Amino acid sequence: MHNQGTMTQMKRHKALSPAERVDYSKYYDLLMKRRGELLDIDHRDEREIDQRQTTGEAPGDLGDGSVIDTNSDYFLQLADRDRQELIDIRDALEKMHHGTYGVCENCKKRIDPERLNRMPHARLCMSCQSARESRERVYRLHPTPKL
Ligand SMILES: [Zn+2]
Repeated sequence: MHNQGTMTQMKRHKALSPAERVDYSKYYDLLMKRRGELLDIDHRDEREIDQRQTTGEAPGDLGDGSVIDTNSDYFLQLADRDRQELIDIRDALEKMHHGTYGVCENCKKRIDPERLNRMPHARLCMSCQSARESRERVYRLHPTPKL
């Protein structure tokens, strides 16, 4: 909502500079595409939402990635996985806004571009992700005993 203008701008300006810089615009497009797919799965009638959101914004502004209403009916009807992915996508877009996109949330290293291509909403680099997953596996195999 408030950073709508910024996101649009960011999309318009291509990669800002040298090699080091992650080309956000490419991942922005991937995120928006994925987000569109997710949102289309369960809510068949987008007009209904448009009508409920009578915010006076121009039509088409629904396309802004930072606006995902996590309390809305269509969001709550999504499968857990899709919901989580939408949240990840929203946060990824938010991170672009703050200039921290593509950085692992755990070790703060840059996430492999290959990984971002496949999973533009990734929060963790490959090694942190697999570390986390194996930790979770251990928890599942050896659950904390109930008292
Ligand atoms: Zn990491």
